Amino acid sequence: MSTLVHGHIPSHEAMELEERHGAHNYHPLPVVLAKGEGVHLWDPEGRRYLDFLSAYSAVNQGHCHPRIVKALVDQAQVLTLTSRAFFNNVLGAYERFVTDYFGYGMVLPMNTGVEGDETACKLARKWGYVKKGIAENRAKIIVCEGNFHGRTMGIISASTDPDCTNGFGPFLPGFVKIPYNDLAALEAAAADPEVCAFLVEPIQGEAGVFVPDEGYLKGVREICTRHSVLFIADEVQTGIARTGRLLCCDHEGVRPDILILGKALSGGLLPVSAVLADAEIMLVIKPGEHGSTFGGNPLACKVAMAALQVVTDEKLAENAERQGRRFREHLSALQHPMIGLVRGKGLLNAVVVTPREGKTAWDVCVALKENGLLAKPTHDHIIRFAPPLVITDEQMDEALAIIEKTFNQF
Ligand code: PLP
Repeated sequence: MSTLVHGHIPSHEAMELEERHGAHNYHPLPVVLAKGEGVHLWDPEGRRYLDFLSAYSAVNQGHCHPRIVKALVDQAQVLTLTSRAFFNNVLGAYERFVTDYFGYGMVLPMNTGVEGDETACKLARKWGYVKKGIAENRAKIIVCEGNFHGRTMGIISASTDPDCTNGFGPFLPGFVKIPYNDLAALEAAAADPEVCAFLVEPIQGEAGVFVPDEGYLKGVREICTRHSVLFIADEVQTGIARTGRLLCCDHEGVRPDILILGKALSGGLLPVSAVLADAEIMLVIKPGEHGSTFGGNPLACKVAMAALQVVTDEKLAENAERQGRRFREHLSALQHPMIGLVRGKGLLNAVVVTPREGKTAWDVCVALKENGLLAKPTHDHIIRFAPPLVITDEQMDEALAIIEKTFNQF
């Protein structure tokens, strides 16, 4: 065994501390991480792993990307937080940068992904009252079965996953739930004049990387336009080059009315999220009606600009597209009895695992970890594979060899 990384407590102690003193709201794989660089993570004992989760797609640019870290350190020594009670000398430049980058008129900066979703829902309701003429307190938002938009009381009211909702009622009214990937259901629901918006993930990530049929997003765009319903794309997980395009919606050339981004907007350095829309939507929210102490802070703004510049300069969307194809081709050809189905886009992929002799996706993930690759099951029988988008050919070859070897151990 390698030596302990300097200054770190050993793995067993770190796990015991979390178990004893932390809430048990997660069920982590038994590995402790102490250091990250690019696609690699190390545990306190110095064992190296290939990261195939990327902190749920927050670390698209790779761990501790030097240019993003430099932006963070430089700005942290000058000014970190002023609140929005005052102007700051970075926010405006960031707002111009991010709106140019994604092609929207305006941005509303927040911190976590779920805050982006909450913000988009508030914006859509307000637009429904002010612009669409929906009667007070009647606005509805259509969402999809199997969605994942976060964990707040508001957004879990839109969820159909019992793990997200059980024991947490009563819920917020005003969500209409329809099946995912079902344009006829959307057509019927959107015809209700009290509907202000349709909130949808271009690929359902947490549900297990469900990729809708080709043409779905185009159909969504067309139906929403025809019924004067705002198309809100939650690209918190799919955005920022993850699926092989800057946005997953770019695969079908559609532009949502409201775009929600988070996670990789900071390259994983701190929580930064954003809601983008044009002025006729964004300006329905007036001063004092919405906000966040940390949203739009100069540190986050500098980090986000650096993180997005890295995506462009290192051609991460192109790499995600190419490496993703290699990944799916290789795994689809494996023909192992536990590999049921391989699906995904770019570097957001999943393998549906068929349990065998009592062994499940969890056991496969534990074995992958033993062999030096970190991935996590979602919904018992699905393993998501989503490495940082900086992964090289050699690193992908190594990962594919580990995955193949691991399945062959079962
Ligand atoms: N929306 C989507 C599509 C997500 O996948 C997630 C997190 O996984 C969220 C929203 C919530 O983001 P956060 O955990 O930063 O609140």
